[in-house]
Amino acid sequence: MEDTKVSELICNEGSPQWDLQKLNNLFLPVDVADIARIPLSIQAPPDRIVWHYDKHGVFTVKSAYRVALQLTFGDEDGSSSSSANPSMLWRLIWNATVPTKLKIFAWRVAHDILPTKSNLIKKGVDMQELCMFCGDTTESALHVLVMCPFAAATWDISLLTRHAHQVRCNTMNDWLREMLGSTNKAQRDHIITLLWAIWGNRNTLLWQGVQRSPHDVVAFAQQYVHEFITVNGTSSKVTNWVRDAVRWAAPPSGRLKINFDGAFDPTSGRGAVGAVARDAEGGFVAAMV
Ligand SMILES: [Zn+2]
Repeated sequence: MEDTKVSELICNEGSPQWDLQKLNNLFLPVDVADIARIPLSIQAPPDRIVWHYDKHGVFTVKSAYRVALQLTFGDEDGSSSSSANPSMLWRLIWNATVPTKLKIFAWRVAHDILPTKSNLIKKGVDMQELCMFCGDTTESALHVLVMCPFAAATWDISLLTRHAHQVRCNTMNDWLREMLGSTNKAQRDHIITLLWAIWGNRNTLLWQGVQRSPHDVVAFAQQYVHEFITVNGTSSKVTNWVRDAVRWAAPPSGRLKINFDGAFDPTSGRGAVGAVARDAEGGFVAAMV
């Protein structure tokens, strides 16, 4: 079979025709039907290896890379509501000035393959499904990274993407397309790093029981990018991410401070509010929507 050539599957008595008996011996019926539909040249050219993703049939690393991108971000994104170029999202992620592990993290976010409670339950893991921050909603990637009041407060503190949690979308893939497709490079670095920091904070809460404030998460992300840019000597501008005008201040000892934000859509008549309560050390206490 390995040494069989296509020409051996063709009868050349008279006009060239596929040898159906050989095809049926070698292939499944569904494949035989497809092969038999391929028209044959009357010139009977010699066999040669063809890379059918290239119009000249020649294999190149560049064309293989393009196919890999299409396989990764093309077909399976067909259900996305975005009409953007399928590989656009991957290019935006890959060109970010962030460590490779953050790019891979963003790629996993885009494909919804983070081990969120929602995904683990889908795989049969028996566990409690609610978000650890608000205790109100199933922990999906979109919820814990963007929509949860804790995440929303984190994005809100962040200077460059204040309305990140108000982007209308149903999946993290759509959210990433919207956010990364409408921002500049420094903002994209910020968005990817802050997503990673929010997820890291979630893991710290899950595995170590340590709760940080939204402000601390933003400050950590900003410091992380600053150090990466400094160490790597890139020309990217270090931007202050934290809104100075509303820099969060802790309440007096023994008291809680509650910060809230709201949004109203006049077309649908629907609105929502969210709130986060923190103590004198800035520790997260509770959240609600
Ligand atoms: Zn939540």
